[in-house]
Amino acid sequence: MSLPIESLKSYFPIFTHRPELVYLDSAATSQKPSSVVQSITNFYEKENANVHRGLYELSSKATQRYEDVRNKVGSLIGANSTNIAFTKGTTESINIVAQCYLKKNLKAGDKVLISAMEHHANLIPWQQVCKQTGASLEIIPVNDQGELVLDGLKSLLAERTKLVAITHISNVLGTINPVEEIISAAHKINIPVLIDGAQSVGHMPVDVKKMDVDFLVFSSHKMFGPFGTGILYCKEEFTQQLDPFNYGGGSIKNVQFAETEFLDFPHNLEAGTTNIAGIIGLGTAIDFIQQLDLVETFNHERKLSAYFKERASTLAQIQFVGEPKNFNGIVSFLVKNIHPHDVA
Ligand code: PMP
Repeated sequence: MSLPIESLKSYFPIFTHRPELVYLDSAATSQKPSSVVQSITNFYEKENANVHRGLYELSSKATQRYEDVRNKVGSLIGANSTNIAFTKGTTESINIVAQCYLKKNLKAGDKVLISAMEHHANLIPWQQVCKQTGASLEIIPVNDQGELVLDGLKSLLAERTKLVAITHISNVLGTINPVEEIISAAHKINIPVLIDGAQSVGHMPVDVKKMDVDFLVFSSHKMFGPFGTGILYCKEEFTQQLDPFNYGGGSIKNVQFAETEFLDFPHNLEAGTTNIAGIIGLGTAIDFIQQLDLVETFNHERKLSAYFKERASTLAQIQFVGEPKNFNGIVSFLVKNIHPHDVA
């Protein structure tokens, strides 16, 4: 049985402490259910130890719980846990793919294809890796409705395109992009695709195998979990092609003064002590999400934004920015003649 949508607010302690709060910024970060907050406190109070470094009971238990979260992430997105790396968040996951996979495959004249509706996190890492290698960025345009213009996709997917990186849901417009169509077109000419799932995972069913995506990145803090933790899902055929991002302890098979042999993915990407308590909290956030009916949640978010649009459109001063046919709970609008900072 899934949790009833009408009672969900009571799971979030911020609304008990601030009964007057109307929180409209979930696209920036979601509020946290008390189970998530408690699991972090509980870990620090009763289970605190480092992972993958100790053979005593407390440390083995922490390692077990940490790896259980990897399994939970896998089950949330239909992936094997061995294809899931813990990172600091979406931004870091994208930087890893740019610097540790793409850079060595990019030459002058190559291209990276993104869209005009990307978050800075899914623009700047590609822009910079292009600058470093002499490659160039190609941009899929966006129309006035706030939808990707895919008519020219075939020609944009030129032979020299080495990666496509697209957001699943726009954090500004709420547009849900036809990612399966884009992935399938890219795969026809063997171009790998990264999908930015920061706004989709936890808000709707996402299945990496169904999507056939090569890299999926997302952040815990936008799906009821804590800050400072995120995910890089990597399809099996690319796991061997990702070099370490940070060098240090916990990522090593064998080390000598002259050489190091690294562990395989994902452990080669988790050097140093990661945000263990945050990852435990992410596991609890996934438990919370698993108690929701994600199709019902998704439909509810859509209903709320449709209701907002219906009511706000009766006000002459409100001008919506983009009205995509396929949208989620995010709405962008301007209030005529008033600066957005003043509206806020
Ligand atoms: N991509 C999208 C679509 C986002 O909404 C965000 C966060 N607003 C990011 C990337 C970056 O996420 P983070 O700051 O957690 O790394």
